Amino acid sequence: MLNCKQFTDLASDHIDLQHTGWKRVEIRLHLMLCRHCRRFNRHLNRSSQTGAAIAQQIWHSETAESEAIFSKIIQSPPSDKTP
Ligand SMILES: [Zn+2]
Repeated sequence: MLNCKQFTDLASDHIDLQHTGWKRVEIRLHLMLCRHCRRFNRHLNRSSQTGAAIAQQIWHSETAESEAIFSKIIQSPPSDKTP
């Protein structure tokens, strides 16, 4: 069974439904048993949905400001996740 650290490492991929088979079962089993990771997963889902909604709103606004925001996002290097 996954521990919480292993779950959080896999969580963002789980949102994208990239896991199949036994790994997906392990993730769901851990979520059934661990309220901390259920909360973490809920917040991760909300953040993902909020980000997508904001991006969609900016995308459809078609203003010079939205183009500038997208340019900044595309040009920004990804942040390093390790502390
Ligand atoms: Zn957990």
